[in-house]
Amino acid sequence: MTLNALEITEITEFGKPLAGQVAIVTGGSRGIGAAIAKELARNGAIVAINFVSGFEKAESVVKEIEAQGGTSFAFQSDVSKSEDVQNFIQAVKDRFGKIDILVNNAGITRDRTFRKLSTEDWNEVIDVNLNSVYHTTSAVIDHMLEQKYGRIINISSIIGQAGGFGQTNYSTSKAGMLGFTKSLALETARSGITVNAICPGFIETEMVGAMPENVLESIVSKVPMKRLGTTKEVAEAVLFLAQAEYITGQAINVNGGLYM
Ligand code: NAD
Repeated sequence: MTLNALEITEITEFGKPLAGQVAIVTGGSRGIGAAIAKELARNGAIVAINFVSGFEKAESVVKEIEAQGGTSFAFQSDVSKSEDVQNFIQAVKDRFGKIDILVNNAGITRDRTFRKLSTEDWNEVIDVNLNSVYHTTSAVIDHMLEQKYGRIINISSIIGQAGGFGQTNYSTSKAGMLGFTKSLALETARSGITVNAICPGFIETEMVGAMPENVLESIVSKVPMKRLGTTKEVAEAVLFLAQAEYITGQAINVNGGLYM
């Protein structure tokens, strides 16, 4: 029996671990988020990403996924604004009918030592990194509870565990994500939903590339593996958690041994 192209495609998709699942990756237009979006798509998921500005970058991620036979779409939505997030989630539901995986990845830094930190620096980081997690999760949770299935994966940081000089705002936002992860995991564990976090160490991205070279060299020298992590290494941890059945309320460190 010879299979036609459509049947082969169906079998190929069927063989992928996330075939038939719909994922949302916030801040999926670049850096770690783009790597996560591509990794989930490569493994069969339909992937929706959002962007605030920089439509071209978001579009290029969508095109790359589509070129590999996947399905993706990008939507303009500021994760710090509840209404924007609700519109984004509704657009995903309207288009694909469901949401299985939510990756809260969007994040910013506004680093200053505490005495120089303005109220705006504080609020902006808490709004984008932490309040966003409330907005996205509250927009998907009823749906996940109804379908008795969900994977919520929060991209926290080593800075939320160990602290960071000049990063009280960022560290607070990332530590807050860890408390949120554990508490929501407790509340949803009986409903087929897992809630986990990933704490990347220092990963090769624009965020880390913006650090002064001497600071970066000093960080790398302290990493037991003596190198930065890659966005793909973080994406692979997300893929693992997206498939894990019996893991909830955990934080997985992807940090080359820098914090144990
Ligand atoms: P990045 O700056 O390259 O990407 C951040 C993404 O978030 C971008 O796509 C940006 O458009 C999006 N974003 C920012 N503000 C937004 C908003 N208001 N609404 C919607 N989207 C918004 O950063 P990255 O290095 O890829 O980091 C991704 C995540 O990983 C962040 O949460 C960051 O805190 C975390 N993290 C990064 C590192 C690292 O070493 N790069 C380490 C630990 C944790």
